[in-house]
Amino acid sequence: MTGSPAGALGSFDLEDAPSMDGLRACVHCGICLPQCPTFRVLGEEMDSPRGRVYLMRAAAEGRIGLTPTLARHLDLCLGCRACESACPSGVPFGQLIEAARAQLERRGVRGAGSDHGALGFLLAWFPRPRRLGALLRALRVYQRSGLRRVVQSLGLLAPFPKLRTMEALLPEVPDGVAVPERVSAQGRRKGRAGLLLGCVQRFLYPDVNRDTASLLSAAGYDVLAPPAQECCGALHLHAGRLDEFRAMARRFMAVWDSDLDVIVVNAAGCGSALKEYGHWLGDEDSEAFARKVRDVSEVLAESDLTFGSLPETVAYHDACHLAHGQRIRAEPRALLRRIPGLRLVDLRDSDLCCGSAGVYNLLEPAIAEELGRRKVECIRETGARIVAAGNPGCLMQIAQHCRAAGLDIEVAHPVSLLARARGGR
Ligand code: SF4
Ligand code: SF4
Repeated sequence: MTGSPAGALGSFDLEDAPSMDGLRACVHCGICLPQCPTFRVLGEEMDSPRGRVYLMRAAAEGRIGLTPTLARHLDLCLGCRACESACPSGVPFGQLIEAARAQLERRGVRGAGSDHGALGFLLAWFPRPRRLGALLRALRVYQRSGLRRVVQSLGLLAPFPKLRTMEALLPEVPDGVAVPERVSAQGRRKGRAGLLLGCVQRFLYPDVNRDTASLLSAAGYDVLAPPAQECCGALHLHAGRLDEFRAMARRFMAVWDSDLDVIVVNAAGCGSALKEYGHWLGDEDSEAFARKVRDVSEVLAESDLTFGSLPETVAYHDACHLAHGQRIRAEPRALLRRIPGLRLVDLRDSDLCCGSAGVYNLLEPAIAEELGRRKVECIRETGARIVAAGNPGCLMQIAQHCRAAGLDIEVAHPVSLLARARGGR
């Protein structure tokens, strides 16, 4: 290591510094490059995983400083972790970039005028259920009163590209769907499951939570969905706001009964963050909590649930934080294949990011739009009538790009299809 003052790792300080072993694990083979969405769109080495690891290592060795240019290359990363799946050397890219972003964030490297300037605003609203609920209720009035049509037809949001992206992404805000706080197990009892309600999921896709609870109950679980649960902190973690993330994670863990057998998650980004609580909080309680976390598809795949016929052609999109963050690919597909009459078709580049990536599509609309456009072309090739994805951000992003491309297709969470095949809806 060069140029590293005492109490520092090169240009990083030691508080949540990226792991030097992780950075050194990169052997520059380049296998990750074709799997990286930003490299595929931009074609720049510094916007590839290998380039970003090179930059982080150069900073960790004191060869470059923490500059706005470095921040820009790291900010353009979607955090999709496709590079982790591809990497034969086990470079822990997700943890490296989250640690590096934490330093950029804490030390104010980006400056007020950066493209990431909207991040603070988004993090003040999105992961706070009470505020988000109030905002979405107001937006429901905006959508239903006809104001939305007026705003769109007059192009009033044209001078505000980020606001326009946000407005276009927003699906019809549904009326509230109550998810019972407790649902009893049916049949042979398997255990007690806590259900994460999520921030976006509970307001924009509340039926996914209701269907998850009813499928878990049918699979033999008593389900508890504490209404006091707030945000798990996933967006803050991925943005590098580690102090806030840790505070949110501790508040989140405090609302669950300690004797739950499993904490079930139906939002890939949240599940991935919860499974990393042990790493980031570094104590036994958080490690024990993280060990209980499972995606809904993992739990249901082990059940003996049976389904009625659903004669549909379905393409499955791998949400990044399921396929790459949690290595869950087989379970959702296996569950969908258990539905009689349902034909599951291959989707090209099914595990290439759709451009959603938390709030990335709001911060970096140009790259997100290109990825959304590419995803829709892959979906179009399949001829499917339904595309399934296990993450609310993907549902919104894919649905919006299908609408924009004039592709008439239903975008649904796998649990919605499973519930429908059991006669739920
Ligand atoms: S996390 Fe995704 S966008 Fe970022 S470097 Fe890896 S593959 Fe590329
Ligand atoms: S695949 Fe892994 S080792 Fe190879 S360049 Fe990418 S990050 Fe480095």
